[in-house]
Amino acid sequence: MRVSFPYMGTTIVYGKLLELLGHQVVMPEQPTRKTVELGVKYSPEFACFPFKVIMGTYLETLEKGVDIFVTSGGQGPCRAGFYGELHRKIIQNLGYDIDFIVLDPPWRDYEKFFKQILTLKGETSWPEVIRVVRTVYQMSKSVDKIEKLITTVRAYASDRTALNRSWRDILAAYSQIKDTRGVARVEKEALREIERYNIKLPPEEERIRIGIVGEIYVVMEPSINGNIEEILNSLGAEVERSLYLSTYIDETIFPWVGRKEKKKLNQKAGGYIDLNIGGHARLSVGQIVDFKDRGFDGIIHLKPFACLPELISESMLEKLSIDLDMPILSLSIDEQTAEANIMTRLDAFVDFIKYGKADSKERVSLSG
Ligand code: SF4
Repeated sequence: MRVSFPYMGTTIVYGKLLELLGHQVVMPEQPTRKTVELGVKYSPEFACFPFKVIMGTYLETLEKGVDIFVTSGGQGPCRAGFYGELHRKIIQNLGYDIDFIVLDPPWRDYEKFFKQILTLKGETSWPEVIRVVRTVYQMSKSVDKIEKLITTVRAYASDRTALNRSWRDILAAYSQIKDTRGVARVEKEALREIERYNIKLPPEEERIRIGIVGEIYVVMEPSINGNIEEILNSLGAEVERSLYLSTYIDETIFPWVGRKEKKKLNQKAGGYIDLNIGGHARLSVGQIVDFKDRGFDGIIHLKPFACLPELISESMLEKLSIDLDMPILSLSIDEQTAEANIMTRLDAFVDFIKYGKADSKERVSLSG
């Protein structure tokens, strides 16, 4: 069975899962301007932006020959729950004979989930399925750990181009692993490779740390958010996202693992958003408070065009910024977003934080 899936972030992890389950994987390409244009052309005008980009990715990937797309469903009351069905209808109306597996969290419908797992499992034995799931889960944790390290040290790297090349090589090495021992080996090699750059972190008070929160697709996919993490690193700021693939897996597939963290974030969002309004809006607010508690210096909030949950979290940002005494920049992402525009705004934002820090340091030394 020729299987594919939407492109989002470290796509090699999804590819690895399907590959180890014995499927012929058709890897989607990272979205480009052409992908976006294609998606916009065949999507309803007021669909949210991620829907359009994923539509474009499907149409491009179909050209390589695909039997089935595997994707995830929605979180709470937002339109992501209709994505799979609507994509399927549009693609079938265009004349393609294609199937979709839309994986919702298992507790929504255990029977449906089990049937989907049986389809994906194919001829693979159950012990082998368990081994594959363990391998891929460990791989997602490991890739995220290395990525977090990269987006921290890259802020101080003298040769960022070489470090980016190393990161691509590390991802290529992960894509070759077959088991958990392979994951551990690649992680060790990756840490050694990064150490080779001999990057020293500055003293705590000089570090600038920025948290990125918002809707999952625009937070996790650099080709769509204007490569925001790399830009911030190039401006001398460390970056951490609210969402990584492994956190998403914990949240949706293994909720008992992520339950404690989710509860903590929902509590931190209390007083701002007290209900699950869909997507990651409530968690975004909880993450902003959490980043502040962890000593971060600023927040970038990313909202795709036509995303209602993040529109609501955006309405809380001014109050959050005042209450937490922390700068927050909100960016709306759509097909018109230009990288130069993002660059200019990020540049001003990082300068603002730098001057703010220098100013408060001066005030402390004067009063001391
Ligand atoms: S979270 Fe926002 S962008 Fe994502 S599907 Fe829901 S409404 Fe659309």
